[in-house]
Amino acid sequence: MLTLESLSDDPLDAHFNVSALLQQPVGTTLVYPISTLLGRDQESLVSGTIRLIHTGRGVALSGEGAADVLLTCMRCLDEYCEHVTFTIEEQVHPEPRFALRRGAVGFEEDDEVHIGTDNTLDLGEILRQHIVLHLPLKPLCRADCPGLEEIGPDV
Ligand SMILES: [Zn+2]
Repeated sequence: MLTLESLSDDPLDAHFNVSALLQQPVGTTLVYPISTLLGRDQESLVSGTIRLIHTGRGVALSGEGAADVLLTCMRCLDEYCEHVTFTIEEQVHPEPRFALRRGAVGFEEDDEVHIGTDNTLDLGEILRQHIVLHLPLKPLCRADCPGLEEIGPDV
C-alpha cells in the first residue's frame, strides 16, 4: 500500500518509451492497464486504465485509476486505508531543452512531466501527482468517526 511518506518520494516505477507511438500516425491510441506498466512488486499499488494518444506535438494521456493510501484519521488518529480515485487528462510534450534545440518556442519551465530526450515518459510521476492531488484534505477513517474524546469508558 502507498503511504504519505512514499508519495513524497518516488514510489512508482513506470517509465514508458513513447518512440514507437510517435512514429505512428497522429491519433494512434495505446491502451494499457496501469498495473502492467508498473515495476516489479508494484502491480497492486495502482489499478485502472491509461490511454496514450499521439497528438502530433506530443502525447495526450487520459485514464482513470485508483490506489489505496495509508492515512491517519484526523479524529481518532488511527491509521486507515483511503481508497483514492483519480482521472488523468494531461498533455505531455518533449522536454523544453529538446524542443528549444529544434527551434520551437512557447515552452516554459515548470514541474510538468515531459517526454525525455530518450523518448521516455515518467508515468510513475504522473500517477503520483494525480494520487496526491486527490488525497482528502481532512482524512477520516469513516464519515462518522467519533474521534478520541467521545469514546466513553464503557466502549
Ligand atoms: Zn477515525
